Amino acid sequence: MDTILVMGGAGYIGSHTVKHLLDSGFGVVVADNLVYGHSESVDKRAKFVSADLADINSLNNVFDNHKIDAVIHFAAYAYVGESVSNPQKYYYNNVVGTLNLLQSMLAHGVKKIVFSSSCATYGAPQYVPIDEKHPQNPISPYGRTKLMVEQIFDDYEKAYGLQHIALRYFNAAGCSADGSLGESHSPETHLIPLVLKAIKGERADIKVFGTDYDTPDGTCIRDYIHVEDLAAAHRLAVEKLGTYNGCINLGTGLGTSVKEIISAAEEVSGHPCPVEYTSRRDGDPAKLFADNTKAKEVLGWKPQYTDIKDIIRTAWDWEQNKKY
Ligand code: UDP
Repeated sequence: MDTILVMGGAGYIGSHTVKHLLDSGFGVVVADNLVYGHSESVDKRAKFVSADLADINSLNNVFDNHKIDAVIHFAAYAYVGESVSNPQKYYYNNVVGTLNLLQSMLAHGVKKIVFSSSCATYGAPQYVPIDEKHPQNPISPYGRTKLMVEQIFDDYEKAYGLQHIALRYFNAAGCSADGSLGESHSPETHLIPLVLKAIKGERADIKVFGTDYDTPDGTCIRDYIHVEDLAAAHRLAVEKLGTYNGCINLGTGLGTSVKEIISAAEEVSGHPCPVEYTSRRDGDPAKLFADNTKAKEVLGWKPQYTDIKDIIRTAWDWEQNKKY
């Protein structure tokens, strides 16, 4: 079976994908600089190497020392607000770092890559559900770094025969069903873990950013996709490399409002959530959810988690029994 290099395999989505690949019989090498990743999240069955996208020698060492068939590339900075205040950090790591990775891959004859892209590449939606033909006008440096990498892939395909699939995630959520892996960001900015922390009393409350949106209950609607469904899609994408090049949305196709998330979390946990209603956050569109037809057709993928309560239940279990 093929050996996959997972760049950023100690992070949230990366670690779940590593577990899924190993469970599916792939060999896995995890490379991570552990700036945001957790060493505890690296599956013992995988080989771990310390590497940094900024240090091409560290990348060359990985390919010199392991026979790699394909790369899944998760290693990126992902705080949208920080990308506005410190774009240099984002362009260097997410774009220049990816160029380093591609240089090292191609120098070692590795031409297959699956990449973490984002629905942030679309910017303000002109229609929903968003399909892959929706215009791409990202509104943050973070979103632009992801779009730039997608464009680099197209040029590298023509010039060097790169085989690439970029997966545009909507809102990743939940934790592994067996409780071994979870979401542990510092700082945490995502809605579901923040709601659960407010329920636990780890935070005073959850601040709801805006109640006057053009949605049925006035709060923003997003497409929350379980991290294990994301992991499965990465494995399917690896298997598809060489027969398909391009970008694919990963979302459930279902929209859930902020208020619905809070109610579902209260129901799952059996506890009330303290809420403060505040003003809108800059750059938040009212509704974002995916048309996932292409993922179904090209990858043969289907999300297993389509009830938001099931997604939140895995996150609640993790929140109570965190391992890292
Ligand atoms: N949100 C909120 N309060 C928070 C964090 C998020 O009301 O403390 C809302 C946010 O406005 C968005 C949704 O929850 O509509 C999901 O936000 P998140 O930051 O998790 O993901 P994003 O959609 O921004 O990638």
